[in-house]
Amino acid sequence: MRITTDFTGGNIKVLSVEGDYVKVECDLRDTTTDWFYWAFCVKGASGRTITFDFGRDRLGYFGPAVSKDLKTWNWAGEETLGDNRFSFTYTFDDDSPTYFAHDMIYSPERFEEFLKKHNLNALTFAVTDKGNEVKILEFGGGDKTIVLTSRHHCCESTGTYVLEGVLEHLLKNLPDGYRVAAVPFMDIDGVIFGDQGKNRHPHDHNRDYIENPVYPSVRELMAYAKEHNVKFQFDFHSPYHIGGGDDKVFLVRNLLNTKGQDEFASLFHEESANLSFRYFVGSDIMPNTSWNTLTNPTSTKFFSSLPTTELSFTLETAYFGTEENKVSQEGLIELGKAFARALIRYIENHR
Ligand SMILES: [Zn+2]
Repeated sequence: MRITTDFTGGNIKVLSVEGDYVKVECDLRDTTTDWFYWAFCVKGASGRTITFDFGRDRLGYFGPAVSKDLKTWNWAGEETLGDNRFSFTYTFDDDSPTYFAHDMIYSPERFEEFLKKHNLNALTFAVTDKGNEVKILEFGGGDKTIVLTSRHHCCESTGTYVLEGVLEHLLKNLPDGYRVAAVPFMDIDGVIFGDQGKNRHPHDHNRDYIENPVYPSVRELMAYAKEHNVKFQFDFHSPYHIGGGDDKVFLVRNLLNTKGQDEFASLFHEESANLSFRYFVGSDIMPNTSWNTLTNPTSTKFFSSLPTTELSFTLETAYFGTEENKVSQEGLIELGKAFARALIRYIENHR
């Protein structure tokens, strides 16, 4: 058996291997607090039943996300989990690579396939210090701009599925006078290398909206915002690992147009009502409650301060959901389409 991380998003530390019992832990790298993202590949384990033990809370309710090709992800199942969800046990049918991850990874390769499917071309928006290209997808003929971003925290894949769903719907239904600018991988280095990205030293990408940003993608997006007529900006994230409000979909409310946020929340609730994985109005985190202190230099704080912006907020989408409201790749895409339908209704209400 071989355990590897040589793929987009790979992240694991193998602490020990004793027979069919493997002790592992996620690699925090430059994250200054505890965090929970991990992803690894197992090869050459045909016929074996192996336990992977994190020794702590690193797994969701439905076991690890598992994939054979890094494209299609499923939950391995609740029955694979050990006590306290600290470990999982998996029986391998063959020797071919089997990928396991904390959640259903959304990779740049998937976004490239999305672009190809729709005959679209994303341009290079910024180049990181490590030489990776940050892409921007623009479409629509109007000048009123809708800015969509994800992966300010690179491990937060659920946000990018939602963003893809939003794009899918807006490509065919964009209201006249509008254009879309989407940057799906703000921290592309972290996405590729499988970093946590949250709470990086000295600060992460969503704390970089300062006078002199450290990260080229943030610097470029701030410049872009000043040159365009930004009406809306939505930043798609995943919340904390698991539990309570973090098992839901929620808006991180701020003080820009609180009535507009109420209206949007109602529309989004309605539009997602029949979905397998949905948003419920009332799940939102309100301004100046819990960690939502409005003091951090985040993308939404920056966009909210522009004179042209009507609505700007973060949408947090759970990694796993719950048994009754469960995350799947398709469910996340459908949630994004519902978000776009809500946005179009919002725009029409204010014409
Ligand atoms: Zn985040």
